[in-house]
Amino acid sequence: MRRVAFFDIDGTLMTGGPAKNAFCGAMIDTFGTVGNVEEVSFGGKTDPQIARELLLGIGYKINLIEERFPSLWHSYTERLADELTQCPMQVLPGVHDLLNVLKRVDDIGVGLLTGNIARGAELKLDSAGLREHFTLGSYGSDHEERDHLSRIALQRARDMWNPSLRPEHTVVIGDTPRDVLCGLAVGARTLAVATGSFTRSQLAESGANQVVIDLTETDKIVSYLAA
Ligand SMILES: [Mg+2]
Repeated sequence: MRRVAFFDIDGTLMTGGPAKNAFCGAMIDTFGTVGNVEEVSFGGKTDPQIARELLLGIGYKINLIEERFPSLWHSYTERLADELTQCPMQVLPGVHDLLNVLKRVDDIGVGLLTGNIARGAELKLDSAGLREHFTLGSYGSDHEERDHLSRIALQRARDMWNPSLRPEHTVVIGDTPRDVLCGLAVGARTLAVATGSFTRSQLAESGANQVVIDLTETDKIVSYLAA
């Protein structure tokens, strides 16, 4: 692969779904509380980072949090799988066309760069019918800080596709300033999409190289990814 595009999931490829509900249910199963869920923003953060912030915010000790993480993720993914059958993910405009075009372009690889834990990402992709497009990814379960996920994604793309792949030959695509910053952290180009909870101007201010309203302008986006 000569170029690689790394896609965020929530707010970028898809929206809706029961993830927050499943996560809050799992927090109650595991810790008996959701913490100050109204005061912590979820956007662009990794799943473990969100859980840790919520629990530290109400005085939970770090070792207790980490000890119970396996139970939390077990409960979350069980609940998510179950709730997705009633409340599937909604694919955002332009996504199917863009991914189908990229599938036919030989020299652009497609991967994930998401704060979702790996199993959560798989369930969401299955729900949206998009799993076939992604053979490689970097997940919230790989590292709690999103800035490290871009480095891990780049390394995986080198291992799988092209050992000499350079950061500037990759594009990080996401809907939050945190996506933009994690792309910039590794030296990737960044394409921000205003289908999440941030406006075009907020995304531009975060330093995104390109900002689009949504992913419907297939030709323009493919040209940018191929540049
Ligand atoms: Mg997102």
